[in-house]
Amino acid sequence: QAKARGRNGYQFYSPSMSGEGLERLRLEALLRRAVEKQEIFLHYQPQVEIDTGRLVGVEALVRWQNPELGLVAPSRFIPVAEDMGFIKPLGQWVLAEACRQMVSWDKAGLAVPKIAVNLSVRQFERGSIAEQVSGVLREAGLGPGRLQLEVTESVIMHAGDALQLVNDLDAIGVGLAIDDFGTGYSSLAYLKQLPVQTLKIDRSFIKDISTDANDEAIAVAIIQLGKSLNLSVIAEGVENEEQAAFLLRHGCRHAQGYLYSRPVGPDDILTRWRREADEACSTERDAASEA
Ligand code: C2E
Ligand code: MG
Ligand code: MG
Ligand code: MG
Repeated sequence: QAKARGRNGYQFYSPSMSGEGLERLRLEALLRRAVEKQEIFLHYQPQVEIDTGRLVGVEALVRWQNPELGLVAPSRFIPVAEDMGFIKPLGQWVLAEACRQMVSWDKAGLAVPKIAVNLSVRQFERGSIAEQVSGVLREAGLGPGRLQLEVTESVIMHAGDALQLVNDLDAIGVGLAIDDFGTGYSSLAYLKQLPVQTLKIDRSFIKDISTDANDEAIAVAIIQLGKSLNLSVIAEGVENEEQAAFLLRHGCRHAQGYLYSRPVGPDDILTRWRREADEACSTERDAASEA
């Protein structure tokens, strides 16, 4: 790319290059250096048990804060990272950081039961994702049972030897969740073969759950499917009490969404949930001493 630059540092573009193409090049150039410049970080969104409010896990969500671009949404830069072959180092960094963070919460006195990390289809290409993951876990000192990997239906249907790769991951003891479930086209027969523990109902079905009969039917069908296949089901994008009550009524026990918390930094997770754990403890103590 440096070669394309003119002598004075000006860059010459072919006239056919669209504005979009330019924007893309700029994004790529900035993204390439984002990790080393420490512009990439993670936010964490709590996953809770609906009826008790108890923390059951967090999902790690990548963020990119660039001095020129501001905060860039993952929906904008993940596809770019995928196309430019940058998703592997980025994904590796996300995994490692998520695992380090779990250990750091542990040390600070908050045992987060589990962390969910999103995987891109490209991370399933060529090579042993399981080896990578077990290396990261070992280095961080985190047990495999506390890591859950989130993949979409299309990852599983498209990656050539996905079944093999997913079985390898299962063999090292990490969990697997199907993200945005219901929006893809995975066959149920295939699903049955997969070592999956969790289905995540896509936010689009939750949004109008109590007013749109179709969304309601789909959400209920996914909850039923989870029950029949003995999988845990979590709803994403839960924003109000009405949605939460609906889910609980239909047997979905776990949720994630703005009703409980937006994705937040690691210290926010620590202060809020350590306090709640302390309060739960002291209530139990009070109850015991009254008895
Ligand atoms: P996702 O994995 O389905 O993550 C859930 C998205 O929904 C997040 O958006 C989250 O902030 C948002 N969300 C959560 N609760 C609510 C709610 O109550 N209402 C609304 N309106 N939205 C809610 P975010 O962080 O912008 O991430 C978007 C997508 O980018 C993710 O969808 C995931 O597919 C991808 N992504 C994020 N981090 C990573 C990563 O580290 N690696 C890869 N490969 N993909 C990632
Ligand atoms: Mg996800
Ligand atoms: Mg999702
Ligand atoms: Mg989604």
